[in-house]
Parts: sequence; structure tokens; C-alpha cells
Amino acid sequence: MKSIQKPIVIVGAGFAGMTFALNLRKLNPSLPILVVDSEYNFIFKPLMYEVLSKEIRSWEATPKFANIFSNAGITFLRNCLTKINFKENILEFSDDLKLSYQYLALCTGSIPNSFLIKGVDENCYFFNDFQDLNKLKSFFNKSQKATFHKKLFIVGGGPSGIELACKIKDLFKDQFDINVIEKSNEILNKNKIFNREQAENALDKRKINVLLNSTVKEVSETKISITSDVGITSFDKDIVIWTAGVKPNLSYLETDEITKKFGRILVNKNLQIENYKNCFAIGDISVIEGMEDLPITAQVAMQEGNHLANNLQLLIHGKDPLPFEFKDNGEMISLGIGEASISGLGVTFSGKLAFEARRLIYASKLPDITESLKSASSWIFQKKSILKQFFKKDNPN
Ligand SMILES: Cc1cc2nc3c(=O)[nH]c(=O)nc-3n(C[C@H](O)[C@H](O)[C@H](O)COP(=O)(O)OP(=O)(O)OC[C@H]3O[C@@H](n4cnc5c(N)ncnc54)[C@H](O)[C@@H]3O)c2cc1C
Repeated sequence: MKSIQKPIVIVGAGFAGMTFALNLRKLNPSLPILVVDSEYNFIFKPLMYEVLSKEIRSWEATPKFANIFSNAGITFLRNCLTKINFKENILEFSDDLKLSYQYLALCTGSIPNSFLIKGVDENCYFFNDFQDLNKLKSFFNKSQKATFHKKLFIVGGGPSGIELACKIKDLFKDQFDINVIEKSNEILNKNKIFNREQAENALDKRKINVLLNSTVKEVSETKISITSDVGITSFDKDIVIWTAGVKPNLSYLETDEITKKFGRILVNKNLQIENYKNCFAIGDISVIEGMEDLPITAQVAMQEGNHLANNLQLLIHGKDPLPFEFKDNGEMISLGIGEASISGLGVTFSGKLAFEARRLIYASKLPDITESLKSASSWIFQKKSILKQFFKKDNPN
């Protein structure tokens, strides 16, 4: 076994970093692991819709990093990475702290991408983290007393846009006229056909308007302008929620040396960064050479985290790391309050049972991370017996 003098530093403790840290700890309890995150809490992003709809409470989906890591015997530091010196193996943080590492895993996730479209950053709401969620909640709180049929636009017909549209409609009924704007010719164009069909039905049932083949040109304080085959149309708007894309969160990189090919950090199949073999990048910030079409999801991030733990254990023991392989475990989307659609593991189903299954599957994904969540959430284990076939820890969505 190689001697480890400096720590294994993991920056970003979301789905990828968290899974990596906890699995590595299990494989080799004697390794010095340091996890750094700029936030105090983990965010279980797939449950943000349920927090918005108050189906679960916000603290249930945001366990504290300090608790998670101290329970696992891992050191956690709250700090924001600002710079990396790859050649000297040194990290710099926002409070001028400098740290050296023996191995480094970058897992800093993604942030919304406004594609430099005029007015988007200034005049849109986003739905990527808890700050976004709270802003949206306070908009809705203020709107409670207002008149009906306010104009709400959601840009992006991917899972986030569709899940949000259904939840908002169920929550606020006719208070908002909801329009989903999608630039391609169908919603959920990268998702499973079954889920797409269920989502189309859910949107129809709720009378949510979908504008396909439509691209946002500009968002001002009062209007949204859209280009489609009929030309440019401007609509009055009360709120626009932007879910049209994400980009990697890489503010600490000073050059494009390791990102220039795809905008995300390019890694080999062993998840190593080219030229810096003691450095890894996993989750939303990275792209694996030859596997450029992998979806940007928690499912991929967790599988990469798990794989990297095994690979680092091999490297430390002087063995060759193994190439990452993605196992598609299917996908789940929530479709309004109390409803969802699941496609994968050889089954497809939707409705209330799918909603319960989705919750259970997510509960099983919260590895050992949330004692608070497990004890406090009555919903988690209620129907475990019915849904045993989905209840596998190695089966993240
Ligand atoms: C609303 C929503 C719903 C989603 N639903 C699903 C779903 O149903 N299924 C699915 O598979 N995927 C879903 N996703 C996508 C999924 O959440 C992401 O793919 C996943 O979170 C990526 O994991 P990650 O570890 O790469 O990044 P994240 O989980 O985003 O974690 C990144 C971490 O890095 C930290 N960080 C960032 N910058 C720094 C810095 N400079 N210094 C220190 N720390 C830093 C952040 O605080 C954060 O904790 C959803 C995403 C959203 C926004």
C-alpha cells in the first residue's frame, strides 16, 4: 500500500462527492479524508419540488454536512474553493486558507446556464438550489392575495420544467396560467418514452400550455419574447422560471486547460484528469472521454462516486484502476402532487403508487446520510414491503 502523507481532499459534497467520501471511508477507514463544501447542508435536489409543495419539510431534504460526516468519522470543512495549483497540489480557499492534497476529487456540480440570453439573469427565477427555492416561495407567498390568471412561463421542457409546472398548477390551481417553452419539437426529449407520454397526459389534464419549437430571445421586467416558426412574439409575464440548462460550476479554474474540449472537465474512463493522474472529477462538472452522452443526473454522479472509491482503493494498493461503466437504472419524474411516473428496471408505472415508490427509492438513496431524515419522515418506510423490488441502495435514479 502507498503511504498517504497528505489528505485525500474532496471538494463539493453533493451526490458525487458525498457518495465517494462515504464509500471510500467504508472501504478503507484509515485513510485521511477531508471533505470541503461551500454550504452547510446537503441538498437532495430531486426532492425540491416536494419542498415547494410542502409535501416534505425543507430540513428533511437538506441534512447538515457536519452531522453526516461526523457520523461517518470524516473531517468536514465549510469553505469555498477559489484556486487550484495542480502542479504543486495546492488548493486555495475564499478565506485565504491553503491546503495541500495527495489526491483531489472535484465534485462541484452545476449552476443554471442562461446562455447569455438578454435579460435572463436579471429577470428570471431559477430552480437549482435552496436559495432559488426560497426566492420562488417568497414570490408565491406575495402572489397569494393577488388576482387569478397571472402569467407564469417556465423555460425548458426537460424534467425540471415539467415537474415544476405540474406541482405549481396543483398548488395554485387557476391562480397562474402556466406556459412551458421548449426549443425542440417535444418535451422530455432525452427521457424514456413512457415517462414522456405520462408527462404529456399530466400537462393536458392540468391545461398547461406547451409552446414547442420556441426559443427565448429576451426577458424584460414585464415581457418575454419568443422566436418560433411564426416569427418573434412578445407576451406579458408575471414570472419566468428558467430551467433551460445547466453549466459546470468551475469558478475556481483559471484556464481552460482541462475543460477546453467540452466545457466540462474531461476525465479518462478511470475518472482521472489528463496530465494530473492524482486528480479526479466526477458528477455534473465532468465528462468522460468516449461517454460524452451520459446524462447530467444524480444517478450518474452517484455511480461515479461509488466507482471512484473503488478505483482509489486500487490505486492506493498499487493496482490498476478500472474503467467506469454506467448502468441505466431507469428514471422517475414527479407529476404534480401525489403523482409520479417511473420507467426502468423492466417496469413502467405511473400515478399514486409511482409517487410512493419514488419517495421510497429516494429514501433508500440517502445512504447513511440522514439519520434526521430517516427518523423524522414517516413517509419513508411506510410502504417498504410493497415496493421491495425497488429498494436497492445500488440503484440510484
Ligand atoms: C430541481 C432538480 C431536480 C433534479 N432531479 C433529479 C432526479 O430526479 N434524478 C436525477 O438523477 N437527477 C436530478 N437532478 C440532477 C442532480 O441533482 C444533479 O445531477 C446532481 O446533484 C449532481 O451531483 P454533483 O455531486 O455533481 O453536484 P451537486 O449535487 O450539485 O453538488 C455540488 C456541491 O459542490 C459544492 N460546491 C460548489 N462549488 C464549490 C466550491 N467552489 N467550493 C466548495 N464547494 C463547492 C456545492 O455547495 C454542492 O454541495 C435534479 C436537479 C435539480 C436542480
